[in-house]
Amino acid sequence: MPVSVAKKLESMRSAFFWGGVEGNRKMAWIKWDHVQASKEKCGLDLGSIVSFNVALMLKWKWRFFNYGGLVWVQVINSLYGNKGGFGGFKKVASGDSPWARLIALDKKLDASGVIRQNVLRWKVRSGHDTLFWLDNWVGENTLAEVYPRRQLEGGVSAAQMEELVFKLVNEKCIDGQDYWQWGINSDGQYTVSSTRQWIDDKVLPTVGRATRWCSWVLKKVKIFVWRVLWNRLPTRDLLISRGINVDSDLCPLCNIENESVNHVLGSYEVASSIWRLVLRWLQIHATMSLGPENVFQWLDEVKVHKDKKKVIEVIVCTTLWAIWRLRNDSVHEVRVLRKNLLFDFIQEFSFCWCNSRQNKFRILWVNWLQHPLLAL
Ligand SMILES: [Zn+2]
Repeated sequence: MPVSVAKKLESMRSAFFWGGVEGNRKMAWIKWDHVQASKEKCGLDLGSIVSFNVALMLKWKWRFFNYGGLVWVQVINSLYGNKGGFGGFKKVASGDSPWARLIALDKKLDASGVIRQNVLRWKVRSGHDTLFWLDNWVGENTLAEVYPRRQLEGGVSAAQMEELVFKLVNEKCIDGQDYWQWGINSDGQYTVSSTRQWIDDKVLPTVGRATRWCSWVLKKVKIFVWRVLWNRLPTRDLLISRGINVDSDLCPLCNIENESVNHVLGSYEVASSIWRLVLRWLQIHATMSLGPENVFQWLDEVKVHKDKKKVIEVIVCTTLWAIWRLRNDSVHEVRVLRKNLLFDFIQEFSFCWCNSRQNKFRILWVNWLQHPLLAL
């Protein structure tokens, strides 16, 4: 697939992700690179189409080396030489054939360090299929390249001989056929997904800490929490900083303070009273100032059993989400969620998620209402 096509597809995917339709793009709140990046890199692990395409192409290299008996492999061998033209062997593919493009791609990946050619390695078991001197089976290059035979006499060459013996002393032959190994996967087998992930991890940027991803809450809530921690919700302070016209920079709920994530989800009067109710319900005496960052930091440090921690995380995520929904209702002047029902909503939704999205234990509603951490 040409890069331009991959880029066009990425652009459509990004527009869809941010809720736009054709001809009416919505604001992208976080750079697409970051959305694609793995969760360890603070992204959503969507992966990039370009890397996926590269991983699909490289599979041909893997198959070429592993299925020597196939007719197409023999055709390539006769066209491009014994190793199919890979790794700078004698006959190098030229011209604009798909195979030449694959060889060029392989070379480019090696030169940029994204995927070194030696990721595909020959592993010796019985040694029957391996040429001791000419195959690349120990170290980075063939022994013929590293130790040209004529120089193995006296002087520096004696030191080389010693080094060679040292290299070989731990190599043992065992039963079984020699085979090709793909160094990216621990089992040595090629998979498109792990290769795609490998490339993305090398190419995409890293920002801050890993994404919080609580498996018990709904995906849309997980993505919401991810945006909260990136500080990328459409609060008025951010809208103004992006040059969007808004009626006022004041918080639509209280109309007193400027609207920011920390205000709406933390210090705003109704929010902080909800947090206090939630903490009392959990029977937790925490003294942190309330707000998404602080609550999650406290959660990371608190010492409780991991199941209980997960329950607290579900409740924290639900609380953030509920307060944000209240805010949205008031901006859009619909009254779905009422302030005095907010806490009931949090208890009910967190109960449903804790019960339905794991199989470890069942929780009873009466126990849940009394003390969620003792209800497990
Ligand atoms: Zn406010």
